[in-house]
Amino acid sequence: MEMENKTDLTIITDPSFSRHDTGGGEHPEIPERLQVITDRLSKGSLADQIHYLPPRAALRSQLLTFHTEGWLFRFEESVLSGRTYIDHPDNQVCYDSYEIATLSAGSGLVGVDVAEQQPGSVVFCQTRPPGHHAEPNMPFGFCFFNNCVIAARYWQQQYHRPRVCVFDFDAHHGNGIQTAFEEEAGTAYISIHEHPSFSYPGTGWAEDRGLGAGKGTILNLPLAPGAGADQVLRLFPKIKNFLEAFQPDALVIAAGFDAHRLDDMSGLLFTVDLYRQIGNFVMELAQEYTEGRLVSILEGGYCLEKLGICVEAYLAGLVEMKK
Ligand SMILES: [Zn+2]
Repeated sequence: MEMENKTDLTIITDPSFSRHDTGGGEHPEIPERLQVITDRLSKGSLADQIHYLPPRAALRSQLLTFHTEGWLFRFEESVLSGRTYIDHPDNQVCYDSYEIATLSAGSGLVGVDVAEQQPGSVVFCQTRPPGHHAEPNMPFGFCFFNNCVIAARYWQQQYHRPRVCVFDFDAHHGNGIQTAFEEEAGTAYISIHEHPSFSYPGTGWAEDRGLGAGKGTILNLPLAPGAGADQVLRLFPKIKNFLEAFQPDALVIAAGFDAHRLDDMSGLLFTVDLYRQIGNFVMELAQEYTEGRLVSILEGGYCLEKLGICVEAYLAGLVEMKK
């Protein structure tokens, strides 16, 4: 694998992610999301530095590090029997959705491998379906398998990095990640999201800080509708203090871009430049606390006009802080 700095930006993606067909109606989680990212990155300032890698399908045993057998059977049976959604029309599926969701979960596993082989490199999983709302036994909010949790478990088990933190800057709270980690001392979850009183899925209250052995390992940072760069930048010292106390071995980033001001999915007003600043901050955290062990996994982001430029700004923010 290339060790030269200039090519040290790895994107894990696959054309077959487009085969997860969400029905072609009003559904916002569509294949074009990944296409607009590829289009933008191929023309932009990072184009020469990108090294593309394909994912591999997550194994059943790897999916079971978070999900139940019951959910795996139900998901597979539902798609093979021709259902068009599971539990709620948000969770649209087609015949190939189970297979593609295992590949989406597997992109994080390849990402972890790359981050271990090249610590300090920029690794982005450009994947769908997204994952952070998925619960152990059910789909939720366009999500079927919890890609970030499965990557975190792999990091712990395959590479013996016990202390993994997920930082989630999607506009929505990652309820599934909180479910996975809230009772454990060894994992942590930090989420910036629109306040649960105003936003899907209605979880992510600041008072929720973890349970039992996991007390203090959850940091929910809800923002009022209309919040933008000023409010987010003010949270950075809190996040740093939290990580200083937690001392992670590895960082997984739930990188959602639906807080952009033009994205209809939230009332937050993030700008392209804020995503760049978040990228700077995330790389700084990885250098300070995890010796550069960092993987970012795409979650939401539904404004097709802005998604590509937001992802590019975030990645540029990571790249420019590399030592
Ligand atoms: Zn979201």
